Amino acid sequence: MDKCSFCGRTKREVNLLVAGLEGHICDHCIEQAHSIMNEELGSKKHISFDTINLLKPAEIKNFLDQYVIGQEMAKKIISVAVYNHYKRLMQKPDSEDIEIEKSNILLVGETGTGKTLLARTVAKMLHVPFTIVDATVLTEAGYVGEDVESLLTRLLQNADYDVKAAEKGIVFIDEIDKIARKGDNPSITRDVSGEGVQQGLLKLLEGSIVNVPPQGGRKHPEQKMIPVDTKDILFICGGAFEGIEKKIAQRLNTQVVGYNASKNRERVDKENLLQYIAPQDLRAYGMIPEIVGRLPVLTFLNPLDRKALRAILTEPKNAIIKQYQKLFKMDNIELTFTEGVLDYIVDKAIEFKLGARGLRAICEAIMLDPMFELPSTGSNQLVITEDYAIHKLARIDMRILKAS
Ligand code: ADP
Repeated sequence: MDKCSFCGRTKREVNLLVAGLEGHICDHCIEQAHSIMNEELGSKKHISFDTINLLKPAEIKNFLDQYVIGQEMAKKIISVAVYNHYKRLMQKPDSEDIEIEKSNILLVGETGTGKTLLARTVAKMLHVPFTIVDATVLTEAGYVGEDVESLLTRLLQNADYDVKAAEKGIVFIDEIDKIARKGDNPSITRDVSGEGVQQGLLKLLEGSIVNVPPQGGRKHPEQKMIPVDTKDILFICGGAFEGIEKKIAQRLNTQVVGYNASKNRERVDKENLLQYIAPQDLRAYGMIPEIVGRLPVLTFLNPLDRKALRAILTEPKNAIIKQYQKLFKMDNIELTFTEGVLDYIVDKAIEFKLGARGLRAICEAIMLDPMFELPSTGSNQLVITEDYAIHKLARIDMRILKAS
């Protein structure tokens, strides 16, 4: 009976047995050999700063401008933080005593305002490994869910298990607000998704050697952990922090008593309180002080207004409309949209509170039929008008777009 020459399993015990000249190898051993190979090769490769395309802050912002509409303050702050972060990495360890601290970033803003897009664009510019992870999958050790270490699994995978490259990468942690401590009394119950997770996260943010499961999760108890040093990984966190405006307002109200009070009160823009966000508001919201301290670069994103939504449709380098035009061009079809239909799409996104994500969903609903039909008709021109869009959208329930 054929069996694996490495582990001795018989053909019946494995899914696949590959025959060689004088032996066999099973699927299990192939996978294991593959991960050993990645690990070995990974630790030998070195990321060089020549591969990091470091621009000056103003140039970084110019780059971000090509992809992200508005959000001027956030773009400026991120440009400086990213520049400083990579300067910190370039400093020679023994040159001086001054140690530049890491500038992890926290972006606060409604969902769909460009937080992930900003982080993704920064990573694209720097050509470093990048991953997006969701804080909501995390739970305290021992509970069902992911351990904090597994946040780095995807980063390692995206770096092809090149540990040195991953150690200079960027991790975007989304929905960080969801691990805020619920309620003001930390000892009410052991809250699975709150403070304990924040404590775990702290370890990553402040920089330490973390044993990362190369395949993630707890499904592979036999896997060999890979040690990853997080000292130089840039963490960008994002969260909507729904309701934090109340905390900001409370703080602003207590601050504006006494000297200079009337002057300050006048300047407060009540419509957009997020712009005044400060570390103490995050603490009031339920983030532990140590986490707040490890996210020293704090900035906000504005809600997108009509003008911004309209610009998002056509202006970014990979704007939705440009993407459709490119798709059609590959079939030699010239696709145009009238000004009226673009305004109409924005109106619908606002009417149904769909935000920037909704723009894409609305466009998909309008474009499905032409994308299906046109390539077979031999036609080489298509103009999408407002009437056409009204006709296409009339058949669908706009509420379903919200979920997409
Ligand atoms: P968030 O992370 O804040 O929830 P995203 O960055 O994922 O939001 O945005 C969702 C989508 O909406 C993006 O893929 C992008 O197409 C679009 N978008 C959102 N905000 C902007 C913006 N300021 N400029 C350009 N596109 C945007």
